[in-house]
Amino acid sequence: MSATSSSSLLSLASGYGPYPTPAVAVEAAMATLRTNQALPVPAAEGQPALREALAARYQHRGATHVTPDHVVVTPGGKAGLLTLLQAVLQPGDEVLVPTPAWFGFWEVTRQAGGVVRTLPLSADNNYAFTPAQLTEALTPRTRLLLLTNPNNPTGRLYTRAEVGALLAVTQQHPELLVLSDEIYDLVQFGEKPTPTLLSFPDPHAQHLVLNGFSKSLELVGWGVGYLVVPPALARTCAAIQFATGKSVPVPAQAAAQAAVEAADAIAADLLAQLAPNRAQLLHALATLPLVPALPPPAGTYYAFPDLRAYLPAAEPAEAANLVAHIKRHGLEVVDGTNCGAPGFVRLSYAVEPEVLTEALGRLRTALAAVASK
Ligand code: PMP
Repeated sequence: MSATSSSSLLSLASGYGPYPTPAVAVEAAMATLRTNQALPVPAAEGQPALREALAARYQHRGATHVTPDHVVVTPGGKAGLLTLLQAVLQPGDEVLVPTPAWFGFWEVTRQAGGVVRTLPLSADNNYAFTPAQLTEALTPRTRLLLLTNPNNPTGRLYTRAEVGALLAVTQQHPELLVLSDEIYDLVQFGEKPTPTLLSFPDPHAQHLVLNGFSKSLELVGWGVGYLVVPPALARTCAAIQFATGKSVPVPAQAAAQAAVEAADAIAADLLAQLAPNRAQLLHALATLPLVPALPPPAGTYYAFPDLRAYLPAAEPAEAANLVAHIKRHGLEVVDGTNCGAPGFVRLSYAVEPEVLTEALGRLRTALAAVASK
């Protein structure tokens, strides 16, 4: 049976693309295995060569103060986030999350003893996030502001000017940490690179970055991520990893190092595969009845259409019913409720082109069946 045969369930719900590991990364990992010697036990903070390559990457992007001492290699982005939150949160501390946001943030924060406070942004103005909104949302319990640039699920990319305006607020609160999740940084279709948080002035050492290899660099399933944080915090995170046995095996770190060194070529290859899918998806969404026009998402490989017109009420139970209805038509999508936006769905176009074509047909049929009820 082919992947798109009429009876099999298709999915645009996964956050991971179907792309094979880049050949340079496979080779680098294999070389660590062919030595006929025991594998080295990895350092809890990551291998020096990989940390150097990652520091160089951030320096190159304007974060001139970053050294290998700022970098901690983690077993994936999610594990890195958990370690970081464990290091900085006291029980009950609030993490301010502008929504829509990646659904993973809620549980990771909970596991670290924190509490998510959401700051809902609006599709109507393409998720603009203003200094006034931020000022109003901060409370004495807010320990950390969690930005994602570009954003999963909306694909919104916040410009240098927009991020700078928000940082003018956060600098007035030196106890507040600002974490930028930049895991999709190279998956973007604009002309300017995604501005990294670490390239802005940071007089109070508030700025932290989370990044990884499973999105922009096609190392799906390798379990490698990293943090770029002030050295004292990096040491705390490494100590947590040491105590909990979370170091990344050397073959995976070697693969990651090769991927960083070939980052431009890998990202170019990824974008070339994504571009036609993106065009197809945006065209299909533009022609769906009742769906408000969507500004083209500048980054990530998601679109986040507003399907509220297909719901009796934009409530989580109704939204779940709609997602279940779409699934009965053979298509799995992410319920936007889990991202803080009931009535929206997240669609990934990091899939085989024929899967996308068939999936979009199923979405159209499913929505037509709702509209005709
Ligand atoms: N941050 C964001 C915004 C994500 O979308 C994801 C994965 N979906 C992660 C972090 C975690 O990535 P990893 O696969 O490296 O654990």
